[in-house]
Amino acid sequence: MDMEPSNDQEVEEIDETYPDDADSETEDEADESISNIKATIGSAIAMIIKSLWKLGAFLSDLLQDYVREVPESDSEDETDPQNFFYDYLLNDLNLPHSLEGNVTRDLFAKIVEHIPRWNSHFEVYSVAKKICNRCKMNLEYPFAHSYGLNIVADSLRVLKAAFMDFTFETILKVIRIHSKMLCNKEGCGKQNYVDSVILKLPSVFTIALEWENNETGEEIFETASILETEIDITAMYKYEGDSTFTKYRLASMVCLCGDRYNCVAYERNRWVRYLSSETQVIGDWDDVLSMFRNLNIRPEILFYENAMQRDHMFIAQGSEESEEEE
Ligand SMILES: [Zn+2]
Repeated sequence: MDMEPSNDQEVEEIDETYPDDADSETEDEADESISNIKATIGSAIAMIIKSLWKLGAFLSDLLQDYVREVPESDSEDETDPQNFFYDYLLNDLNLPHSLEGNVTRDLFAKIVEHIPRWNSHFEVYSVAKKICNRCKMNLEYPFAHSYGLNIVADSLRVLKAAFMDFTFETILKVIRIHSKMLCNKEGCGKQNYVDSVILKLPSVFTIALEWENNETGEEIFETASILETEIDITAMYKYEGDSTFTKYRLASMVCLCGDRYNCVAYERNRWVRYLSSETQVIGDWDDVLSMFRNLNIRPEILFYENAMQRDHMFIAQGSEESEEEE
């Protein structure tokens, strides 16, 4: 299946085999670095799937799809659906050739664009509205489509240092609102700061963090300490829909540890870390922050699930979960 070109930050296509400075490397070293990059990207895909698996609304839909898509003869063997999707995505996605920028954010966007039924959970449609400061005309700009917010980690620290009292939500609002749009009335042309209005709430609100400065464990800790595990969408956007359930809780994250990705997820009232094949119980949120500092782990993409849906899912699944083995 061909990928539709993404309308936002697309990974730059690199057709040439890399790296450019191949002369300075032996072929073996180049092969090794290619296989390392592939392994890193493979771990990112596995941990994105793992993180999505922790989202109730997504999971119920996904399993229905899986049951429909996998022929009956195949579903009789005990193929783990997560492995099925891992193989499927690894084969079908147009994978990046380098590890520039936020790999998980770009892969996540590719994945949900590749499987349109999935992206309905994550899409945020906002419309920018404003009364022009100069000519007082009512301005409304076309719908913008995104999968949540992309934030430079450094800007969180800078804003928090400058405005100690700012909450995470306020900082996000300040970062988000920092875009100006041109008044489109003929002859006016005033640049206005605009309000983003959301009409329909997504099931899952996604925040991607871009780490640009090779941050130390201490800086990662400082940044992650600003994050909140519960956010209200109305603190960041104007919401004009009719739902009263506008709170979101952090359910899972994909984090980079060295050159491999982990998934850190909240389940059964504590945080758990998934590595390639093992699972570690971490504890409460402060323990997560300490782990970020001690192991130099940086969260790259955070999945906040609508709190009402999440509670609903836990009530529905509570009895099943307690019967599962660790
Ligand atoms: Zn104007």
